[in-house]
Amino acid sequence: MAKGRIEINEANCKGCTLCMIACPQHVIQMETERVNVRGYYPAMLVDPEGKCTGCAICAVACPDVCITVYRQVSVRQSQTAAASAG
Ligand code: SF4
Ligand code: SF4
Repeated sequence: MAKGRIEINEANCKGCTLCMIACPQHVIQMETERVNVRGYYPAMLVDPEGKCTGCAICAVACPDVCITVYRQVSVRQSQTAAASAG
């Protein structure tokens, strides 16, 4: 299974929960104790077991483009991609 992580631009998050609902790994939660500069409870990644796969479904779901996705690519995958590109 691929590994990934996300970064959420908290300041732009409006707390709509769409990313939390969309995540198939259930690793996004809403903050409940502090608000962002806009007064919303922001989304946050809570992934102690490293379940995020970098699938980017959350980023696609976010209407405010707050989520950046990073996906770990193995050396073998990157070599295969380079071979098929070249
Ligand atoms: S990239 Fe996929 S698994 Fe990771 S937090 Fe977003 S929706 Fe969930
Ligand atoms: S979908 Fe975007 S705006 Fe909505 S809670 Fe998630 S990060 Fe915030």
